[in-house]
Amino acid sequence: MSPSLCEICCQMREVRTTRSRFVLCELSLVNVNYPKYPPQPVVWCDAYKPHGPPTGAQRVDPES
Ligand code: SF4
Repeated sequence: MSPSLCEICCQMREVRTTRSRFVLCELSLVNVNYPKYPPQPVVWCDAYKPHGPPTGAQRVDPES
């Protein structure tokens, strides 16, 4: 399966059961234009939001 934008989107929440894994779009909770469980893979989405920049503890400083 192709990579999905949802996997790297901050609006995605993973829902797991003992046998399955679902990709829940949290935007669907406030906007009916987005499905709660978008068919995967999502290759384009106008609401895609990448996760924020790394925190100071995770950032690599090239000067050091
Ligand atoms: S906003 Fe788009 S890319 Fe992000 S989780 Fe929802 S459907 Fe996926």
